[in-house]
Amino acid sequence: MRPLIGTSWKMNLTPSQAAGYCAAVRYMVDDLLDRTLFVLPPYPAIPYARQLLSGSNVAWGAQDVHPDDEGAHTGDVSASMLADLGCTFVEVGHHERRRDHHEDDDLIAAKVAAIQRWGMTAILCVGEESKTTIEEASALVLGQLRFLERFDLARLVVAYEPAWAIGVGADHAPPEWVAAVHAALHRRLRELAGDGASAPVIYGGSVDTASADLLLACPGVDGLFVGRSALKPEGFAEIAHTRIDRRDVAEIGRGHGTS
Ligand code: PEP
Repeated sequence: MRPLIGTSWKMNLTPSQAAGYCAAVRYMVDDLLDRTLFVLPPYPAIPYARQLLSGSNVAWGAQDVHPDDEGAHTGDVSASMLADLGCTFVEVGHHERRRDHHEDDDLIAAKVAAIQRWGMTAILCVGEESKTTIEEASALVLGQLRFLERFDLARLVVAYEPAWAIGVGADHAPPEWVAAVHAALHRRLRELAGDGASAPVIYGGSVDTASADLLLACPGVDGLFVGRSALKPEGFAEIAHTRIDRRDVAEIGRGHGTS
């Protein structure tokens, strides 16, 4: 499985700033042929991403979508529109959408279906609100995947993003935590995939240039989903270049003082 490293800019960067980012970043990462890279700009900047990233090794996509293909939904954007803009990836279920827009698992499942109907890959975010135990976190994220049978695993990425590890003031989840929850997610995905291809599981939550290598070293981490630290092209490029050196979690913890 090719490592997957991407960023959502959330509600940051004007279309003009986004254009500058895309024009610069493509040359900063053009040597990276062994991994899949993506950026998810706000909707108004997607046409610039298409214009400036076409032909590069950086894919683009969107941060949300409406489950219907068209109709009377003021202010919303459909999967057909995103497909028309060349989007490869569409994120759904982020903690901030669940929190700010009261999105639930049913709605999120309908969005995944719309994304896949239009030939794009859904990045389905799962994650617990508060830090309790690894067992509780694993049970909660598996619950958020209860509609998994309906999805095409070939067009799905699961992003494990514990809410307590996201945003200003937070710290990334410890490697042993990440590895254990990813293992639970992979077990469930493999059960469903049978002999077919399973879906990758990427980690998001306070990834930065200092932590990217230890998180990518964790067993079961197929890639990274980055917020704040990739709001500048230099930040994204540095994280995208992280050397991947898989290690035992105990060794990762010892090496970085995280356990
Ligand atoms: C996120 O919210 O998806 C995220 C990864 O944010 P940050 O990296 O800023 O914690």
